[in-house]
Order: sequence, then structure tokens, then C-alpha cells
Amino acid sequence: MPFVYDDLYEICREKRFLIDWLQELGLLGNFSGICDSCNVGTVKLVEDKSYSKDGIVWRCSSRLCNKKTSVREGSWFLGSHLLLEQAVKLTYYWVYELPGDFISRELKIGSDHTIVDWKNFAREVCLCILKQDSERIGGPGKHVEIDESKFGKRKYHRGKRVDGVWVFGGIERESKKCFFEVVEDRSANTLIPIIKKFVEPGTIILSDCWKAYSSLKSEGYQHLTVNHSIEFKNKETGACTNLIESTWNAVKKSLPKTGTQKQHYDSYLIEYCIRKKYLKEANDKFLTFLELIKRVYKCQKRRPLANLTQNNQVDQLNASTDLFED
Ligand SMILES: [Zn+2]
Repeated sequence: MPFVYDDLYEICREKRFLIDWLQELGLLGNFSGICDSCNVGTVKLVEDKSYSKDGIVWRCSSRLCNKKTSVREGSWFLGSHLLLEQAVKLTYYWVYELPGDFISRELKIGSDHTIVDWKNFAREVCLCILKQDSERIGGPGKHVEIDESKFGKRKYHRGKRVDGVWVFGGIERESKKCFFEVVEDRSANTLIPIIKKFVEPGTIILSDCWKAYSSLKSEGYQHLTVNHSIEFKNKETGACTNLIESTWNAVKKSLPKTGTQKQHYDSYLIEYCIRKKYLKEANDKFLTFLELIKRVYKCQKRRPLANLTQNNQVDQLNASTDLFED
């Protein structure tokens, strides 16, 4: 049975269902067990409206310790202003490419920034996966499109924001295999070694007219250029293949109606690659994307219990501390 919106709606109806479900998928941590701060109390999930808008928190039962840990600790959801329910639904809508105005109305999100931020987090997951799964591509007679792009606002793993990261990548026309790397700059000294690392000699490389690529012919590649800003086809060399045309058309089509800056434009290419490589053929696009998130943000499974003798001591101590629980 495919996972449909009704299933998601059911799961989101109760906060506890949703948290359980996300824990089972490994998208939220499970911190239950002996508290690692005091080694005395037991950590349990308790209702606590004062802690955060989630209204629920991992809390140590020891009155002296009383340590609280967010349900989002170490997860993809940490640092987002969205409710968990909104974040999960937004991810579902994003995977199925529903329009932004529909999303903001359905989820009652007033600010476009919140939605744009979340989509950037999704694209950040895409980038991490594309980097992890980069492989050698091309070969004689094969076509590889390469591009450098500015990746916008990044949450980068643990909530830290870094502005303006350059990403360099390439896709093989024939197989849709690709490579991506984060680079310091766009100089030939930086890009050419990466091309040699990932692209087989003899490949027909398609790129824009960026000067860093001018030595590609002397490195054993065929090189054709396309000037994206002026035209999608180089009339002289016929360099514009169907792939480039359809890739960039698809990218253009998926652009939001507002904000067509180069920055947005580029990060959509990363999204496009992830959709093509992982989601297009997937049995279930949404669950597949959740798997990809889990590969980037691995959440803690239940905290390991201490050894048996220590446990016995802890159990006795718990007998008194349990009195203070909800
Ligand atoms: Zn504790």
C-alpha cells in the first residue's frame, strides 16, 4: 500500500503518534533510559508546555538534576520554527512539488521565509547525499554536464548557518550518475583536479563559458560550451544537448515566480539531480526522501543501559526520584 496523505494526516493528528512514528523511522532520537548527566534519574518523555512549542520534552526524573533535552535534539528538525507536524507535512508537499501558496495556506504559515528556509534545508539534505554518493562518470563518447553554483543559506548540520558556499557538480547524460563537491572557490586550480577525480578521460564535457574550464581540452577531454545567460543552445557548435535543454527547462519551470536570482536558480539544480536520481523511480517518493534525511541526520536510538550491577543501584535510587514525576 502506498503511503498517501491520509496516512500522514492520521499520524499527525496526535503529537505522540507523530513522535513515535518519527522515532521509528530514526528521524527523532530516543533518549529514554538512565540520564547521562546525573547517572541517577530516568529520562522520560513528558508534557511540558513551558519548554518549547513542541509541548513535550525528555526530562530526567531526578529532582536534583531535572535535565531537559529537546525531542528534536540531533535531528533534522532542530532549529526550525515550524511545529513538527508542519515540518513533516511541508516535507511531504515539497517532495510532491505542491506550489508555495498552497503550502502556506494549508499549513497556515504566514511567512514565505519560513517555507523558503525549510526548502533550503531539504536541498541541503540533497547536497549532502549527492556528495556522499558521488561517483566517477563519463568515458569516451559519454556526455557530462558540469556546473558551479552558489548554494544559499545553509543550516549545515547542527544549526550553524553559513552563507554562500560554492558547490561544483556534474551529471552524466546517459546514466544520470553524478558527482558534487563543496569548493572554496571557482578557480581552475580548484575545479580541474575535481574534474580529473570524477570524470573519465575522453568524456565530452558540456559547461558554461567560465574561464576556469579553458584547459579541459589539454587535459584529455572534449569540451563544448553553452552560455546559459544568453541562450540554451550554442548555435555554432551545437553544444546544447537535449539533456542540458531539458535539465535547464525543468529547473526554470520549478523556479518560484518570485526570486529568480542566480542563487535560487543554482540550488534548484541540486534538487533536480536528487529527484532524477533517487525519487523519480522510487516506490514511494516521500518515504524515500525520509530515508535520505536519515542518512544525513542519524538520530540516537535508545540510550544504552549501564551494566547490571550499576543498574541495581540505579533502580534503588529511582524508587525515590520517581515520586517527582508527572
Ligand atoms: Zn539526570
